[in-house]
Amino acid sequence: MRGVGFLKRQLRRAWPFGSGPRPVILMYHRVAELDSDPWQLAVSPRHFEAHLEHLRRSRTPMDLAAFVAALTAGTLPRDAVALTFDDGYVDNLHQAEPRLAAAGIPATLFLTTAAIGRPEPFWWDELAHLILDRSAPADLSVGIADGRYRLQFGEPDRLDLDRRRWRAWERPRTAREAAYQALWRLIRDASRPERERAMATLRRALGGAGAASEEERAMTPDEVRGMARRGVVTLGGHTLSHPALPTLTPAEQRWEIAEGKRAAEEMSGQRVEGFAYPYGAMDASAQAAVAACGFAWACSTVATAVGAADFQRYALPRIAAPNAGKAVLARALGDG
Ligand SMILES: [Zn+2]
Repeated sequence: MRGVGFLKRQLRRAWPFGSGPRPVILMYHRVAELDSDPWQLAVSPRHFEAHLEHLRRSRTPMDLAAFVAALTAGTLPRDAVALTFDDGYVDNLHQAEPRLAAAGIPATLFLTTAAIGRPEPFWWDELAHLILDRSAPADLSVGIADGRYRLQFGEPDRLDLDRRRWRAWERPRTAREAAYQALWRLIRDASRPERERAMATLRRALGGAGAASEEERAMTPDEVRGMARRGVVTLGGHTLSHPALPTLTPAEQRWEIAEGKRAAEEMSGQRVEGFAYPYGAMDASAQAAVAACGFAWACSTVATAVGAADFQRYALPRIAAPNAGKAVLARALGDG
């Protein structure tokens, strides 16, 4: 799950190294065809295939561990690209892995381990179903942490029904969108028990939404084990329960990061070396905790190419893969 403001960062990205390709780490979440995708988490299977074909022809795709090793050694090709997936959606298994295998392109999957094997959707998807996909009016007050949020909106208006155009990091146009955005922030920054309590309240009051499709769930432990065994996708850490790490104490940060690593290693039977910060949210203490837990490198969501000389091993930048064809991908990569 990406954070607010990534688009602004993407627009600000600079290319100080002149023309020619720069090494890039690409960030995906889902490979799926979605009706509504306020966070732009999904790339359609058709676009994903086009991406792989483009990357195979015009880039040097590398496993991210090899990418970081070459970066460290100063031998990384200018046109290197590494693919990453965050969270652990089951469509990564059904849609992404077979296409990666067919193209001979490796990827890294950063797993939110507490979600693995749980039937309910990730909270941000469920919140979107409860608020944005809802057709009935709502008027209730939800307690989150020390505050209360008043949720109040009427029948969906024209803009609500046309919600495919709205992105969750943009200014909300309707009361529904404003409610989704405000609750998203409050729930993201709440503690895990507070988050679960708030979601339970919303589910009860608004009439449980469930998942939009079978593909919206996270993988099961068996599915993760099979994926790790086949070796096209390497597992990485993404914490136990997907907190915004800067909202936690240093001890809590270490626990979330270490428990996520332990569970991912137990499921995969392999050493897990790489990490990605949930929501891209990091601070100095989170970076130190990732290093102290034994990770060799970590990815942020700062949307730039990778600098050869000034890279930060525990804050590697990543560019979000667009849900579009080759030409848009090439522009996002800075290739044309
Ligand atoms: Zn995530």
